Amino acid sequence: MKTSRSVIMKRIILAAWVLPFCCVALASDHAEPAKPKIAADIALEILMAGNKRFVAGRPLFPDQSPNRRRELAGGQKPFAIVLTCADSRVAPELYFDQGLGNLFVLRNAGNILNDHTIGSIEYAVEHLHTGLVVVVGHEKCGAVAAAVAGGHAPGHVHSIIESIQPAVKATAEQSGDQIDNAVRANARLVALALQASDPILHVAVKQGRLKIVAARYDLATGRVEILPSTPGVAPKAEGAAGASAEKPAAVAHAAH
Ligand SMILES: [Zn+2]
Repeated sequence: MKTSRSVIMKRIILAAWVLPFCCVALASDHAEPAKPKIAADIALEILMAGNKRFVAGRPLFPDQSPNRRRELAGGQKPFAIVLTCADSRVAPELYFDQGLGNLFVLRNAGNILNDHTIGSIEYAVEHLHTGLVVVVGHEKCGAVAAAVAGGHAPGHVHSIIESIQPAVKATAEQSGDQIDNAVRANARLVALALQASDPILHVAVKQGRLKIVAARYDLATGRVEILPSTPGVAPKAEGAAGASAEKPAAVAHAAH
């Protein structure tokens, strides 16, 4: 059967579209993973300098001009990923004194992990080449307080409380403020779970192109405190596929 001229033209057009994508896919299989545009340590310094300005009441409100908006319409290159609480008093662009296009932000009550959160972080690491994740818990977190209080919360709130339970258990024997101890442990356990998350984040950490740190935000002073890092393997987050299996010793260690 004779192939019509229009069919041939369609095939040529299709090949012109598909071939470059195939070449890119083949090339990326063998390419070295892209390094972050801003190294994690520098990114953390920028965040902490912004927090210092915020605490002092001298924020610069950078990167919020109409020019910045227009510039970002072409694409984003956030230098840090922040996972923090949905609490209305805990806004990372404000407490790190940043603007548009600087932070890739995920928020939910209790700054916990689920597949959507991990998938979003994986996207930013792999496709936006962001090299730093900061997990920020905060003083007097209502979600953590509810987990410490125990009992069965109504509706979907219960799944949040369950996710925070490992931090509550890990700090049950500690002296001092039980809620604050659990806030710190929760941020650290979430950071550890992200570090151990297969297949993408764990590999990125191992290759030195991703750093994940835990932090605590103080409501009254506005200060962000970076929590000491803890080696080891984190417990599996509620509903989060890919995180490592629970290891009680690591949980107890992370809570110190
Ligand atoms: Zn909270």
